[in-house]
Amino acid sequence: MGAYSGKNVVITGGSSGIGFGIAQLLADGGARVMITGRSQSTLDAACEQLGENTVAVRSDVAALPDLDALADRVEDEFGTLDGLFVNAGITRTMPFAATVETEYDELFAINVKGAFFTVQKLAPLLNAGAGVVLTTSVANVMGMAEAGVYSAGKAALRSMTRSLARELLAQGVRVNAVSPGPVDTGTLENTMTAAEAAQFKAERVAENPMRRFGTPAEIATAAAFLAFDATYTTGAELVVDGGATQL
Ligand code: NAD
Repeated sequence: MGAYSGKNVVITGGSSGIGFGIAQLLADGGARVMITGRSQSTLDAACEQLGENTVAVRSDVAALPDLDALADRVEDEFGTLDGLFVNAGITRTMPFAATVETEYDELFAINVKGAFFTVQKLAPLLNAGAGVVLTTSVANVMGMAEAGVYSAGKAALRSMTRSLARELLAQGVRVNAVSPGPVDTGTLENTMTAAEAAQFKAERVAENPMRRFGTPAEIATAAAFLAFDATYTTGAELVVDGGATQL
């Protein structure tokens, strides 16, 4: 019997990075895990690593028909849910003056609208006692250069955590947020040159009280705590950032 045996969970963006870390922790602990993402090959590879209790579903959080289909799939596979990790998100850095409408819209469509409707579509399947955990970011309380749109989106998620927590209270469902500091998941290299990414990482390490990045496993531990152990906690945000925004 693992710590999460008997739990059915969905992790959006569970095929890589932080979401994969959450999936790994819960699958190893005996949960039945459904991960979503946009790339079938990445999902297949993740599913193979996670083992037989994992199902991978290709689903774009920004497309409402995909979320409807995801809800149907959850109902077919699991019936109901005990944990929902609203983790899918993209990171973009762009100077305020050079930001164009399409970049703004894409960030909000995935990181904000996607999160809101993920919870809305899957909420009817959540058991009493279930936990929802949204992945926000320390960017939501900082004035980070070139991250205005991303940070505003994460601040919207922080706010949404409180209002969704209020609305789902009647259903016996808690809603909290985990707020990661810097975690090296390889995503910086997708949006920056290797040299820019190396410089960015060196700066984050130098300014962090613990002088290092966090790991997906460390974020996963906090997320699982919020979902399953923090039974008197709702509407809260747990910061996991090596003390960067606290000390
Ligand atoms: P990642 O790129 O490794 O993971 C993101 C996941 O989201 C992937 O599985 C990807 O397929 C999925 N995804 C992206 N767009 C999607 C869409 N439209 N529909 C469905 N899935 C989609 O990056 P990560 O660093 O692990 O990020 C996970 C979350 O953590 C994000 O919400 C991110 O904003 C947040 N975060 C990351 C850091 C960090 O330093 N890595 C810090 C704070 C917050």
